[in-house]
Amino acid sequence: MASTTRYLPAFFFGLLLALSSCSIAPSEKRIHFVGQAQGTYYSIIYYAEDTIVYQHEIDSLLRAFDQVASIYQPNSIISKVNRNEISEVTDPWFTEIFNLAMRISEETGGAFDITVGPLVNAWGFGFRNKLDMDQQKVDSLLQFVGFKGIRLEENSIVKDHPNTQIDFNAIAKGYSIDVIGDFFHQRGIRNFLVDIGGEILARGAKSGNQQWVVGIEQPSDEPTSERVLKAMVNVNDIAMATSGNYRRFYEVDGVKYAHTIDPKTGYPVIHSLLSATVFADSVGKADAYATAFMVMGLEKSREFLESNDHLEGFLIYSDETGEIKTFATEGVEKMINRR
Ligand code: AMP
Ligand code: MG
Repeated sequence: MASTTRYLPAFFFGLLLALSSCSIAPSEKRIHFVGQAQGTYYSIIYYAEDTIVYQHEIDSLLRAFDQVASIYQPNSIISKVNRNEISEVTDPWFTEIFNLAMRISEETGGAFDITVGPLVNAWGFGFRNKLDMDQQKVDSLLQFVGFKGIRLEENSIVKDHPNTQIDFNAIAKGYSIDVIGDFFHQRGIRNFLVDIGGEILARGAKSGNQQWVVGIEQPSDEPTSERVLKAMVNVNDIAMATSGNYRRFYEVDGVKYAHTIDPKTGYPVIHSLLSATVFADSVGKADAYATAFMVMGLEKSREFLESNDHLEGFLIYSDETGEIKTFATEGVEKMINRR
């Protein structure tokens, strides 16, 4: 049974396919299952002599994860922290996501910030209906926003202001894929591909010891349009996530409002950067940086990628004439499938 939790809506960016066939060794089988989690699809492929991991185990793992990190589950740890019902948190997933989020907030100068929750809701991208927004409302909510206003001390969440709330949506999907990856490792599986809504962890190889082939979606003006791939990459071991402003947005009087919020201004960001795909050493990190890049925009993201060797990226943007352009770091250039 798949989780029906809505972390993100059923639109997903990023990519999608693992084009694979044949087998790794004659005795190894390709095992593939698909399901739903976090408001989107998942697709998992692995190679093993026999079924070692069952789909119900993955579903339980994802359900347990939601009980920690989903703001859509009223009884999750994050929801209780947001309602100030608990302050002590010992759960290792929560602690790790929280600490990683804080680190990436520092590194990105606050572009990534899990305290944007109240603004996400007010702008109509959370679990509440959109408010009529004006500068006064934005200012009143901005008082509670800022990653420096919340800390994990020992095992206690300390908030400067009780109205401060956290939202793991920009990092949790990626992190949950890392959790599944660890689970596969513990079971001794070395060749697998986990895809949740276009965020991917690939390890080893697919059939015939070939590289996995993964696609990056071409942004579109139509939120529900069919997916068209902009690029394909050939990979063995990757952790990849994409953020984009082209599927989750609404339009009022010709102005587009997208679901990434600039934590400094309190407004949704829309600029020439249409999507950011990041490759890192974990999907949780890739997920968080990809969201940060959507806030930072094209130039800052390029600079950030160029000065951070541990990251690779693929940015899709529209130039002054509206033409779609791309920027790929050297590492991604090497992976791009030009056949
Ligand atoms: P993603 O699809 O990973 O880019 O995550 C987008 C989601 O993260 C939004 O729907 C919000 O719930 C949340 N979010 C929006 N802006 C930010 C931000 N600047 N930092 C962290 N999370 C954000
Ligand atoms: Mg993200």
